[in-house]
Amino acid sequence: MVRPPLREVTPVILPGATLGVMGGGQLGAMFAMAAKRLGYRVEALSDVADCPAVHHCDRVHVVPYDDAATLGRIATGLAAVTFEFENVPAEAARALAAVVPCRPAPDVLFTTQDRVREKAFLARHGFACAPHRVVRSRAELDAAIAAIGLPAVLKTAAFGYDGKGQRRIDAADAVAAAWDALGPAECVLEGWVDFDCEISVVAARGVAGDVAVYEPSRNAHAHHILDVSSAPAGLPRAVLTEARSVASRILEALDVVGVACVEFFVARSGALVVNEIAPRPHNSGHLTIAACETSQFEQQVRALCGLPLGSTRQLAPAAMANLLGDCWSGGEPDWPAALSVPGTSLLLYGKSDPRPGRKMGHLTALAPTADEAVANATRARDRACRRG
Ligand code: AMP
Repeated sequence: MVRPPLREVTPVILPGATLGVMGGGQLGAMFAMAAKRLGYRVEALSDVADCPAVHHCDRVHVVPYDDAATLGRIATGLAAVTFEFENVPAEAARALAAVVPCRPAPDVLFTTQDRVREKAFLARHGFACAPHRVVRSRAELDAAIAAIGLPAVLKTAAFGYDGKGQRRIDAADAVAAAWDALGPAECVLEGWVDFDCEISVVAARGVAGDVAVYEPSRNAHAHHILDVSSAPAGLPRAVLTEARSVASRILEALDVVGVACVEFFVARSGALVVNEIAPRPHNSGHLTIAACETSQFEQQVRALCGLPLGSTRQLAPAAMANLLGDCWSGGEPDWPAALSVPGTSLLLYGKSDPRPGRKMGHLTALAPTADEAVANATRARDRACRRG
């Protein structure tokens, strides 16, 4: 008789256990809020002491991310660990994973924290992405431009976020400045995608390979930083179904256990082009806190602990508007005026220094339609920031 192979049984991590999160930013803080609500203890591992997670975690370990020995020692007190941003060195995640379950696995971090590896992954699995070339020298940049054409965008392979480490190149006379700004770091040159809009899909994958996908969000950026996300995205159902399917297949191909977000350009033809993958909850998924049966952060806790994933059903059309430090330029924002807009909720991250461009919090509005939700979220923000 042929016996089926034994499946590794992953024990469920029950409430009362201590969970770890690498990183102490707002995503770590919101993970901690969700985990605490489910009865877990939470410890953050951060390289800075003054971070949003301190307000919500039982303990913050201040530790440099390259101190593998200390990370490993901290991990002995944790039942499982996840991360809140992908610029944690994969080696740090490996040091933790040698001691406790680390979900998503360090290999997921390794692939997605570098544009060259991420694009190679997408191409290997047949997911459409922008035409691109790896660039390591000025000569390779010239060759890449000859192959791809202009306009194009030069991006550093690693450590880019919110448009940092990027230069758009419109004409031949802008090439030298772009290379001076970003080289000699390894870069990727991407052809400029003439998109109709940008959307993103947040999805979760459990330890048994089950996947739960949220409604795609439509994303509007200002100065390269996410400004407003709204769902439903107001695109043909076939496009949205395809986006959810691609996101789900990407989580499977990457073997993600946890939450990830796939960002897409929607071309004028309706074709979907993958922009990038974040192996963690995403700014565009913050509206799930107010609008969905299970938030992206609760889903992260459930996936990490081997609990059943929750329903992603959205209860009402919703929009989220980011609050940047600029909103504090005239003093403390007018929160009562913002919250007088019907259906609006506020989440502040507890950051003390409201620098321009810094994400300080967000407002979410629920309304009968996504357009009304966008109007209300932006109206609430205008009132808070005393604009108009
Ligand atoms: P990224 O950091 O790669 O997400 O890029 C930040 C933003 O720049 C994107 O959300 C787009 O608005 C824009 N962008 C980046 N790459 C491209 C591209 N190849 N074509 C058109 N727009 C892009």
